[in-house]
Amino acid sequence: MPGKSYRSELVGLFGYPVDENPTVVMIEAGFKELGLDFRYITMEVRPGDLEIAVKSLKALSYRGANCTIPHKVAVLQYLDHIAADAQIIGAVNTIYLKDGETYGENTDGKGFIVSLREGGIQIEGKKIVVLGAGGAARAITVELAQASAARITLVNRNAERGKLLTAILNEKTQVKADFILWDHTYHVPRGTDILVQATSIGLYPDNSCPDIDYDTILPGMVVCDVIPNPPQTEFIKRAKARGALTFDGLGMLVNQGRIGFALWTGKEAPVEVMKAALAKEFAE
Ligand code: NDP
Repeated sequence: MPGKSYRSELVGLFGYPVDENPTVVMIEAGFKELGLDFRYITMEVRPGDLEIAVKSLKALSYRGANCTIPHKVAVLQYLDHIAADAQIIGAVNTIYLKDGETYGENTDGKGFIVSLREGGIQIEGKKIVVLGAGGAARAITVELAQASAARITLVNRNAERGKLLTAILNEKTQVKADFILWDHTYHVPRGTDILVQATSIGLYPDNSCPDIDYDTILPGMVVCDVIPNPPQTEFIKRAKARGALTFDGLGMLVNQGRIGFALWTGKEAPVEVMKAALAKEFAE
């Protein structure tokens, strides 16, 4: 069969542990929808093997890869190029190859921003409260700052982590950031435009809620949760009951995947198909 290619284009995921990561379902649903001969391979990469795994992307002609726990920070040292925002965040979750070189991006915060913008939410000049100061909060707050948010208040249980992220935002971005130690039931200040739940509270099978006074969520406030599974967390349900405009973590997850998809394939991702595939997976 002259001209026929028996080789699939390859993209992958590096993580450890990684067996339970469902990203393959979302990305391969997108490949299938567009009729692309691409495969997304979930790979167990132990921390000591990360360097050789990144080098292997070149040797095996991969189009790129995602990085998840525990590689998002360590991978920076092995890449040829790192996007400016990923450098500030200090973490990379998406690698793509161009002209034989590796490029690192962080799409977590970008996916969050895309979700808000598609929902008609403006970020410029807004006052934002973020619960949490871990990796997700870092990616989200740096992108919010780049999108010209006016003020970001970080609320975190661990003071050291909260203060470190506050300092990064104040020193490396234009935003004004402040820190509140989360050792009490937090009252969302009047005048807050956007409230972001960026802790791991509420991730399946946990169904608890962050310790805030839900009466301080006002009608019309934009309230977001990073937790993708379940999409309707108790936090989202309570915010909705207060009349807030809510954004769930499933939308954020699909939108971050959509950015990688476009970098690897050069095609616009079929977002709705990918979202439905992931929602079905989570429902099972
Ligand atoms: P990290 O471990 O880096 O950070 C966890 C954060 O949650 C910390 O701020 C931690 O506070 C806080 N936290 C955890 N438990 C509690 C608690 N009981 N009370 C108060 N604060 C708490 O995790 P990540 O930031 O990487 O991930 C957080 C969540 O974001 C995960 O559940 C993940 O599924 C989700 N996520 C979703 C994405 C999406 O696309 N939808 C993308 C990336 C992540 P402290 O510092 O005090 O320990």
